[in-house]
Amino acid sequence: MRASAFHITTLKEAPNDAEIASHRLMMRSGMIRKLAGGIYNYMPLGLRVIRKIENIIRQEMDAAGALELLMPVVQPAELWIESGRWEQYGPELLRMKDRHGRDFVLQPTSEEVITDIARNEIQSWRQLPVNFYHIQTKFRDERRPRFGVMRGREFTMKDAYSFDRDVAGAQKSYQVMFDAYMKIFNRLGLKFRAVSADTGSIGGSQSHEFQVIADIGEDLIVYDPATDFAANIELAAAPCLIAQRAAPSEHVAEVSTPGASKCSAVAEMLKVPLSSTIKSIVLTTEPKDKPAVIWLLLLRGDHDMNEIKVGKIPGLKDGFRMATDEEIIEHFGCKPGYLGPVKTIKPVKVIADLTVANMSDFVCGANREDFHIQGVNWGRDLPEPELVTDLRNVVEGDPAPSGVGSLAIQRGIEVGHVFYLGTKYSEALKATFLDEGGRPALMEMGCYGIGVTRIVGAAIEQNHDDKGIIWTKTIAPFEVVVCGLGWGKSEAVREQAETIYTALKQRGIDVILDDRDLRPGIMFAEWELIGVPLRVTVGDRGLAEGIVELLSRKNPDPTKIPVQDCVDQII
Ligand code: ATP
Ligand code: MG
Ligand code: MG
Ligand code: MG
Repeated sequence: MRASAFHITTLKEAPNDAEIASHRLMMRSGMIRKLAGGIYNYMPLGLRVIRKIENIIRQEMDAAGALELLMPVVQPAELWIESGRWEQYGPELLRMKDRHGRDFVLQPTSEEVITDIARNEIQSWRQLPVNFYHIQTKFRDERRPRFGVMRGREFTMKDAYSFDRDVAGAQKSYQVMFDAYMKIFNRLGLKFRAVSADTGSIGGSQSHEFQVIADIGEDLIVYDPATDFAANIELAAAPCLIAQRAAPSEHVAEVSTPGASKCSAVAEMLKVPLSSTIKSIVLTTEPKDKPAVIWLLLLRGDHDMNEIKVGKIPGLKDGFRMATDEEIIEHFGCKPGYLGPVKTIKPVKVIADLTVANMSDFVCGANREDFHIQGVNWGRDLPEPELVTDLRNVVEGDPAPSGVGSLAIQRGIEVGHVFYLGTKYSEALKATFLDEGGRPALMEMGCYGIGVTRIVGAAIEQNHDDKGIIWTKTIAPFEVVVCGLGWGKSEAVREQAETIYTALKQRGIDVILDDRDLRPGIMFAEWELIGVPLRVTVGDRGLAEGIVELLSRKNPDPTKIPVQDCVDQII
């Protein structure tokens, strides 16, 4: 590719709605252009990155035995009615009518359609197991699209669906996908953590999210630095909800101040890291016949509080709605919102009484804004108790088990999600097969999503500096840029730059030749913004000494290389 024939349109400034680095840099480098809220054009530069991510995912999915197909973006409402999600899904599901007045949706996910395919295509146990996947446009009418491609309304997802004869088979399929995801996110060069996640209303027994570690992440991860325990905040919070189910009307929660036996011990043990604006409360619930459980909640307050008032917001208990900012300020004296970066450790002091029932009211208002859309209705659909044993072990255990003494919290961007579904969809859509004895049986399912376009943003969040993006080679829009200085004037530069460019191309390197005859400062700044990992500079001054310059985007110091060694150095 030649830069003169490519579409490079960088911007000095990012638009005002770009709040985070990755959004700003994607706009400035010309990767995306906004069409409407949460809807973006992927420009040639951005699409190159997306395609590379897709290809890594595709290679690993294929290697794991999954079969690619392609399901339509537009899906008939009938299937959604059959699964029950036409009613349940809420306003994130974009619904529309065709000219005959028939209802359709723009797909936010494909469980219904794939189960329809399975029930039509699979008759015999001999056809199982099978795992179908596609990489397709999704639409979710997000309440708050933001951060560019990170929370878009239209975005690209890889979604896979496994079908098995029995639970043991489904668990194996789940593990195969889990392992494939580890490979994918490693190849993408991301710093990530696989965390146990809640299974919400689906109530299966297994779910993991793959969280890219980043301060701007919208999710909270609770993990134990000493063991491999890691869970998302919803799962970490589950114990109190289980207690609620165990004793819905009982007063089972107690909030203690430090110094009061168990609670303070837990608080102490947790050593929750807090930023200067984050405060935390740690509550224990202790019904006499139930094991103690802990509840952990973080809030952002914009004034310095070392006490947090905990109480119930009237009206939240019965209906299921979010507390307004005003209500939260009135009742808790602090603002809801996302947390800033975790910085320092502060002691926790908690006052007031709380019942478990109103803890979930509290979380409604303060912690998550979209959990009810995920199909988890915290008031009614409670996670399975087994899911939280891990956390309970960590927080209750004798520190001599695990060596556990503290749980840490960090923020993450959910880039992948694997989920054991059981027979939820096969039952609703009657997807059966004939088992070895000739009896009809329900297919055991799993679903596995990866946010392809979200990964672009997540990767940039983890890899950028004040000059721009720093791509890892595997997903860079170009691996190498050859910059010819004084292009218009120097025959020698043109000749040498062309030679290097052609040689790299022949060796399979994804290289772009900058033949635009720009001033060096402008040219270099542009490639630094775009984030190409390696730059080769060919200029008259260097050529006079028989050298070209190599500069890694990660390293401020160029190295001088004899012209004839340049290509070998790069490949
Ligand atoms: P979130 O909690 O961020 O809303 P989700 O749990 O609703 O995500 P899933 O249904 O698990 O998302 O979808 C699989 C993957 O699709 C997610 O792990 C995420 O990477 C990606 N994804 C979901 N919503 C969006 C979005 N609005 N924009 C971009 N990617 C998304
Ligand atoms: Mg969502
Ligand atoms: Mg999620
Ligand atoms: Mg998810």
